[in-house]
Amino acid sequence: MAKLVPENHPALHTIAEEITPEEFQSGYLSKLVKDMRQALKSYNVDGFTAVAIAAPQIGISKRVFLIEDQSEDRDSLPSLVAVNPSIIKFSKKTHVVGEGCLSVPERYGAVKRHKNVTFKAWDETGGAYERGAGGLLAQIVQHETDHLDGILFVDRAEKLWNKNEIKDKDLKEAENE
Ligand code: ZN
Repeated sequence: MAKLVPENHPALHTIAEEITPEEFQSGYLSKLVKDMRQALKSYNVDGFTAVAIAAPQIGISKRVFLIEDQSEDRDSLPSLVAVNPSIIKFSKKTHVVGEGCLSVPERYGAVKRHKNVTFKAWDETGGAYERGAGGLLAQIVQHETDHLDGILFVDRAEKLWNKNEIKDKDLKEAENE
């Protein structure tokens, strides 16, 4: 079964390769998506479930991420698979938001992100799509796209905390800056 790789794994620090037309057709992509979905679902630490994963996080240097919210919240996120995604529009407006990552389990940070983005990608069956994203979804799309470029949130963070020493106050202050 596919597992999350540790933070020092080379795939997390490398520009990932595009999925090729052959990989779309041969079943390679559907297997990869299945493995990623399984790794995402198996992640549950202290009752915390994950909502998104990129292929490099299971050690595969390919340009694929998926979002799948397992909560039954009314504000739950859409489920989507993004193959060879690219962000084609960034809002000028940015904000500083709290961020964490499955691949960096011990830390939490404050990261500046664009409030809205538009991205295009292919789904796992090869259908092209384009969509806008705002708020949390926009943040996730930027975080996951970074993974495909070998960038972790700790590389961008304006402030970092160890999870065991984080105080709500610190985060609130950072988010307001
Ligand atoms: Zn991440």
